[in-house]
Amino acid sequence: MTPRNDNTKGINVKSPREISLMREAGRIIAEAKSAVKDALAPGVTSTEMDALAEEIIKKRGAIPSFKGYQPSPHMPPFPATICFSFNEEIVHGIPSDRKMQDGDIVSVDFGAIVEGYHGDSAFTAGVGLVTDTAQKLIDVTAESLFAGIAKATPGSRLTDISNAIQVYAEAEGFSVVREYVGHGIGRALHEEPQIPNYGSPGRGPLLKEGMVFAIEPMLNIGTWKTKIMPDGWTVVTEDGKLSAHSEHTVAITSEGPEVLT
Ligand code: MG
Ligand code: MG
Repeated sequence: MTPRNDNTKGINVKSPREISLMREAGRIIAEAKSAVKDALAPGVTSTEMDALAEEIIKKRGAIPSFKGYQPSPHMPPFPATICFSFNEEIVHGIPSDRKMQDGDIVSVDFGAIVEGYHGDSAFTAGVGLVTDTAQKLIDVTAESLFAGIAKATPGSRLTDISNAIQVYAEAEGFSVVREYVGHGIGRALHEEPQIPNYGSPGRGPLLKEGMVFAIEPMLNIGTWKTKIMPDGWTVVTEDGKLSAHSEHTVAITSEGPEVLT
């Protein structure tokens, strides 16, 4: 999941024990992601994918993070284990009886809690045969995530991550969503700081060992602007063009970034 873009305050630094619990949450999420990715196919519904992810998360003794999540009293609680977003949907699509069709691209977001600690991770993939442009969007989104992760290292500034993502994405001709951002993560799904996927480098707090971030670029083929559908959750591109999302939970270690999911 992805918070709206607000202010940045303090950052919690996690202990090795806390990070090991988040590593376990990350392992479970990685397993659920892999199972869902393998099961994507024309004719399959997003509710079926939700049931598959929930089964794995619960079988491993974890709790789905997103189910019942309510970021503000103005929003209905999120009703499912995963977010499942089709095509022009950027994030927070609600699983339904909609069937995947050949040529769709789908963004799937997963959260799990182990002993009170969260992991958060998402991928976009094509269903069947997708256009070259759609495949490039998917690939560049994942690559831009890794450009950002490479800056998640002690001694960087927070916005070095933001800038690396934006520079990579825009050089390939895509726009970066600005109204939703990455975030700190730990005892809460969304902690400080917020991590925009755009901006100048060299700003914000100095990164330190023990910080854990969910880094999550959302790239669009057209405008970066967004709107929210009447269900109160699903965020779509304002122009209806395709969007992709790639997210990992990443711990900053003395050796550099460690991808937990
Ligand atoms: Mg997420
Ligand atoms: Mg997130």
